[in-house]
Amino acid sequence: MQHLEALVRAVPGFPRPGVVFRDVTPLLADAGAFARCIDALAEPWLGEGVRAVCGIESRGFIFGAALAQKLNAGFVPLRKPGKLPPPVVGVDYALEYGHDRLEVRADALQPGERALLVDDVLATGGTLAAAQALLDRLGVALVGAGVVIELADLQGRARWHGAAPLHALLRY
Ligand code: IMP
Repeated sequence: MQHLEALVRAVPGFPRPGVVFRDVTPLLADAGAFARCIDALAEPWLGEGVRAVCGIESRGFIFGAALAQKLNAGFVPLRKPGKLPPPVVGVDYALEYGHDRLEVRADALQPGERALLVDDVLATGGTLAAAQALLDRLGVALVGAGVVIELADLQGRARWHGAAPLHALLRY
């Protein structure tokens, strides 16, 4: 994990003062590191019968699509509003400033289907909690969630509910 950590760039003051942005693009650009990252993300879910990996727009698509291949599962994008053609199911959620919305194709997942959530960064936890609420609404069997980075001081994990595990590869 140390090698992966060295490939996450900390950018103070981006996108606004006081924030330290974690940039995963150097990790993605390193073939070996990206492969090891996907292997490590997959490890807790091998043999868990995951049928669908649900990636959160936009960096969750990159990790989620590669992870879906590794787990021999399908990939389902959870998208920002207005990107997917109807019919869609959506949830609105609050941000620090304003609000946002996540949508999924209404028939992308079946009730009881074993699904895994994936994103790059867990910060305040609002995005992942909204994704969890969206999948709950569809009645899927949520196996858990995987993120590459958890910004532990923001306590986003507290907003994750239920018994399904939430795994993070790197913690800051
Ligand atoms: P949260 O809803 O506050 O947990 O924010 C998580 C969402 O914002 C994820 O979809 C991330 O892609 C994005 N995000 C928040 N902080 C960072 C960061 O430092 N680097 C990259 N993405 C971030």
